[in-house]
Amino acid sequence: TLDGDFFRRWLTTAGAAVEREADHLTELDSAIGDADHGANLQRGFRAVTAALEKEGPLAPGAVLTLAGRQLISTVGGASGPLYGTLLRRTGKELGDASAVTPARFAEALAAGVAAVAQLGGAKAGDKTMLDALEPAVEVLGTSFAAGAEAARAGALATVPLQARKGRASYLGERSVGHQDPGATSAALLLAALAETSE
Ligand code: ADP
Ligand code: MG
Ligand code: MG
Repeated sequence: TLDGDFFRRWLTTAGAAVEREADHLTELDSAIGDADHGANLQRGFRAVTAALEKEGPLAPGAVLTLAGRQLISTVGGASGPLYGTLLRRTGKELGDASAVTPARFAEALAAGVAAVAQLGGAKAGDKTMLDALEPAVEVLGTSFAAGAEAARAGALATVPLQARKGRASYLGERSVGHQDPGATSAALLLAALAETSE
């Protein structure tokens, strides 16, 4: 089973991936957005890491809801409320269990992804983070490695799409031919999850 410490390590590992990839994420966002996605997530995940360091042991659900709150309050861009909702909703689904099975977490994350779709009004194929998140939660019950691979493939598959939601949609057809920054960061989060469970 996965305890609170596992989820802390996941988010810390994700934060390290964001630090490593921040310039790349911002570069992707400069092509079809406003060139701040890397900086947005850097600010958010630094706040997550700092908030978690101040806390004693927490249950899985509490780790995720705390992290979600930090993202919502510190990230100015669209991705803050969306990722914040993802983590808060997932955490809420887990309740106060002190440890959860990977299958239960996969179900909870699927509910979190559904909440992101509801909040942002986007669906698969709109060239957003959902293009990585939705295929990932479909196979996450099989293994976290499968989830990471599906997210990576989903992010790559955003290249030929035209954006229908978010800032990139203002570009219309000119959004075609670029990888979506949010789908790319979502793939980083899923890769960090697989890495943490190794
Ligand atoms: P902003 O666009 O406000 O500058 P970011 O650059 O941090 O915010 O995040 C942009 C990413 O957010 C996009 O690449 C996309 O994946 C995601 N996104 C934007 N709008 C939506 C939406 N309505 N639903 C899902 N994801 C979205
Ligand atoms: Mg941006
Ligand atoms: Mg912005």
